[in-house]
Amino acid sequence: MRAIGVDLGGSHVMAAVVEDGAIKSRAENDIVDRTFDVVAKMVAATIREVLGGKKDGLAIGVGSPGNVDLATGVIRYSPNFGWHDAPLGAKLREHLDMPVFVANDARCATLGEHTYGGGRGTANFVLLTLGTGIGGGIVAEGTLLIGNSAGAGEIGHHQVRATDGFYCNCGKIGCFEAQASGTGLLRHALAVAPSFPRSELLADKPQKLGSKAIRRAAESGDGHALAAWNRYIDDLARGLANIIAFVNPEVIALGGGVSSAGDFMLRAVRPKVEELTTMVPRGQTRIVVAELGNDAGAIGAAVMADRGSLTAAARS
Ligand SMILES: [Zn+2]
Repeated sequence: MRAIGVDLGGSHVMAAVVEDGAIKSRAENDIVDRTFDVVAKMVAATIREVLGGKKDGLAIGVGSPGNVDLATGVIRYSPNFGWHDAPLGAKLREHLDMPVFVANDARCATLGEHTYGGGRGTANFVLLTLGTGIGGGIVAEGTLLIGNSAGAGEIGHHQVRATDGFYCNCGKIGCFEAQASGTGLLRHALAVAPSFPRSELLADKPQKLGSKAIRRAAESGDGHALAAWNRYIDDLARGLANIIAFVNPEVIALGGGVSSAGDFMLRAVRPKVEELTTMVPRGQTRIVVAELGNDAGAIGAAVMADRGSLTAAARS
């Protein structure tokens, strides 16, 4: 396969020429102005940059935050950009005169990871990216789940602590994303802080403290960080066990910043997930670290463009 994959984020856009799941060249730009027309122009310019003047008969796949009408490429709403009914697909076709397919960024990442990463060869697969939020996607019986209005896979917004959790950006309490994203880990560290009055963890610039610093401190045995980490792992395990009950996947791949914890995270979370897995046979779901990192979205978007849709089967 050969296509253009675009990963559009709230502050950054990356366009890549993707060949058989590998990125051959890329162009990137920062997004400062989030006005729809300005962003659409920036995306088109980034695609032109990576194409270097040639179109080569390639199709373009774009992964964007928000809920997307897959048939038209209209972003129905995107909290990251503050857009409603933004016709991204049509605008890019107008700018570039090439075939354009648009889908949610997390669904694109799931398609990429399923085709070329940690989900290769599985029929039932879930990707979760644990970053600022939690993005996800579900592959069932070999096909990416879209749902009735392209909302299947919004796993970040099922509640794991509905009565005693943190407020989520979506307005609910205790969403999986609020508890088990990288931001969730930081919130756990702040929540347990009163029990560790002599802790150094939040001593300087707590606003700059990231999930990586907390995880590293936990790994080196810091009491405050470990208390936060254990709560984090509890909530992550709750969500993973729920996913197993809903989807019964063969593999759940964890991507995003927090997954750089690798074995330290997997060793902690696996036995807790087993404990919480009740009606589905235990020990059947492999929980692994995702393989494509930040490139999963662009690679998956290119796969979508090459196949002509998010759900089309691979060409043989
Ligand atoms: Zn939520």
